[in-house]
Amino acid sequence: MKGSIQIIKLFNIPVLVHWSFGLLSLFVLYQGYSNGLSVEGTLWLGLFVLSLFVCVVMHEFGHALTARKYGVETRDIILLPIGGVARLDKLPEKPLHEFLVAIAGPAVNIAIALLLSPVFFLPFINLDLSSEGGINAQNFIPLLLMLNVFLALFNLIPAFPMDGGRILRSLLSMRLGRVRATQIAAIIGQIFAVGFVLLSIFSLGSPMLALIGVFVFLNAWQEARSVKMNTLLDETKLVDIMRTRFTSLHPHDTMHSAISIVEMGLEYNFIVRNEVGQSIGILHHEFIKEAMSERDANAPVAVYMSKHYERMKAQDSVRYAATRIQSNGYSIIPVEENGKLVGVLDMQTIHDFLKENK
Ligand SMILES: [Zn+2]
Repeated sequence: MKGSIQIIKLFNIPVLVHWSFGLLSLFVLYQGYSNGLSVEGTLWLGLFVLSLFVCVVMHEFGHALTARKYGVETRDIILLPIGGVARLDKLPEKPLHEFLVAIAGPAVNIAIALLLSPVFFLPFINLDLSSEGGINAQNFIPLLLMLNVFLALFNLIPAFPMDGGRILRSLLSMRLGRVRATQIAAIIGQIFAVGFVLLSIFSLGSPMLALIGVFVFLNAWQEARSVKMNTLLDETKLVDIMRTRFTSLHPHDTMHSAISIVEMGLEYNFIVRNEVGQSIGILHHEFIKEAMSERDANAPVAVYMSKHYERMKAQDSVRYAATRIQSNGYSIIPVEENGKLVGVLDMQTIHDFLKENK
């Protein structure tokens, strides 16, 4: 995410902090100090913010490491002012796995709270949390414990992107399928979001809560949309959307033939095939432009074609193809059926398909 810096890498997962999170921490410290906290009190407050930070990171690793157990990697963990986000590569396939991944985060906070609970039996602990003077050695651990309970409960609110939203979706998915389950979970999430905003306006007056409400509302909508899109991409096969009218080139053709088709503005990337009709390479638009600028129109296609491409099967899913195209930068890929070239696919075809199904 833009504006984030990596602070550490654990279990091979980068942990990033968004600048606004750092700013918020500084602001909290500044507020404490300017409201008459002693230097010692400010240090305790700083330590508390740092501990909160560690608890949030541990919460996110609860998600990430559980996801890894079910074969889903985590790109990174980002800390934002509204909480942490573990960005998983994809959703766990099975609803039960999604349930376990989602609940693992709050479970970490409950575990931390339980581990801290023996502290209540220590004689010097001050349980009067309302006492003046802010955070100190006496109330530090009890406050941290309560904060972890709060983090667990807050995250269990059944609204995306909170864990509770995912837990709800996974439970509904077991009966309804993921698309329907997400739609219902998203609606419930949006009801909560509106509730947050109303609560913030009419009683608590907390702008943070209103902000979270807006964030939750947009996220619920986004989640429903992306699940619907991904399911569509999973269920659609290449044979359903591939382009069957296309020009293919021969390695002995001159670049001139490619250039003239490009100049007509109909096709920009080409499949190169041999005598028996099998694809042996692709010719990117960039390479054709290069040949044009080098005035190399008489060179054979074989000189410019790239062998870095993949053949896909007509029955492969559009999602699989789109991921491969995007991550490898293919401009075009041949689609084959029983070893025969039957169509081509490029990003434009996929975009057009997505536009039609918006
Ligand atoms: Zn979580």
